[in-house]
Amino acid sequence: MSTSVLYHAFQISGVKYKSTSYEGSAVVFHGETTAEYHDCPHCHSRDIAFKGQKERQFHLPPMGGKECFLNLQIRRVFCTSLKSHGIASLAMA
Ligand SMILES: [Zn+2]
Repeated sequence: MSTSVLYHAFQISGVKYKSTSYEGSAVVFHGETTAEYHDCPHCHSRDIAFKGQKERQFHLPPMGGKECFLNLQIRRVFCTSLKSHGIASLAMA
């Protein structure tokens, strides 16, 4: 398994593959975004401060009859322009 599996099997780019786990009958891929920079999800300002990480789960199409998920580590940000918290925009497509 590698980053290319996510790209070729699911057409997901912008995610670096970390590992795979099997939970019940489901296949769970774990990864992180490869964005070179992050911005505010509301105003797209790059004047932000990082405020930790959060894992978010995405449902993927089934593979071999098994449910598949992508667990992605995403960064929480604080926008200094809007004075609000949010989740950094995802660079994956
Ligand atoms: Zn903002």
